[in-house]
Amino acid sequence: MRIANLSGRLVLIVDGKAVDVERASAGRFAPDPQAVYERWEEFRAWAGTAVLPEAAAFDRADLGSPVPAPRQVLGIGLNYRDHAAESGFATPDGLPPVFTKFATSISGPVTEVRLPAGGHTDWEVELVAVIGRRAENVPEAQAWDHVAGLAVGQDISERISQLAGPVPQFSLGKSFPGFAPIGPWLVSPDEFENPDDLELRCTVNGEQMQKGRTRDLIFSVPALIAGLSAVLPLLPGDAIFTGTPAGVGLGRDPQRWLAVGDELVSTIEGIGELRQTFVA
Ligand code: ZN
Repeated sequence: MRIANLSGRLVLIVDGKAVDVERASAGRFAPDPQAVYERWEEFRAWAGTAVLPEAAAFDRADLGSPVPAPRQVLGIGLNYRDHAAESGFATPDGLPPVFTKFATSISGPVTEVRLPAGGHTDWEVELVAVIGRRAENVPEAQAWDHVAGLAVGQDISERISQLAGPVPQFSLGKSFPGFAPIGPWLVSPDEFENPDDLELRCTVNGEQMQKGRTRDLIFSVPALIAGLSAVLPLLPGDAIFTGTPAGVGLGRDPQRWLAVGDELVSTIEGIGELRQTFVA
């Protein structure tokens, strides 16, 4: 199953076209895409058996984030060995560093992003997992049951503000407006042959910058849910940015930052792509 946010309304994606959920369910489910995660099991059951009206074509520029207003956004740092190495950090022993991307930085999949003046803005393609059932002290073996679905995410990061000061400001440096595009839709875990092994990559102006596989995550999606939910409850509709593989601008020699006019395309196998253009 695939769901999306089309002009602020929850839709099912069927063969690349959209079915409006509120209308197709005769009002049983609200149009707000964020509200559906509170009733995820009920929604899944309905979507699996409903006789749907004909789906309509749409413009991808009208897509918003499939998870537009999570109560918690958890960002994970240094979760691929090759990226920890290029960043000059040791691979963490316990749970990797956790920060937030404040919810106002979330956007849809096709956007223009304003570059902070004087900044060093960088890319980080990441798998985003969205919670579909409250998770508290969940063992790894049951963690996938708590995931509504997966989406492509970009953890866009301004490195000067991220790394300045006596302790790094990960959450602020990664929360400028438009710095958390998510999409293009949410794909339920059962759609993947193996949801723990997906290729992710990103290009800048067509040149490949990152290419990795989620099987190389130090903490897999289930391990993250187990580790995080041992500390705090994960709530329906929460989003987890699971970390980025090697190839970010910070780790290049010479370093490289996003510039006005650059186009960043981020792709995950079996999900789809994000497309960001950078403006002054
Ligand atoms: Zn990241």
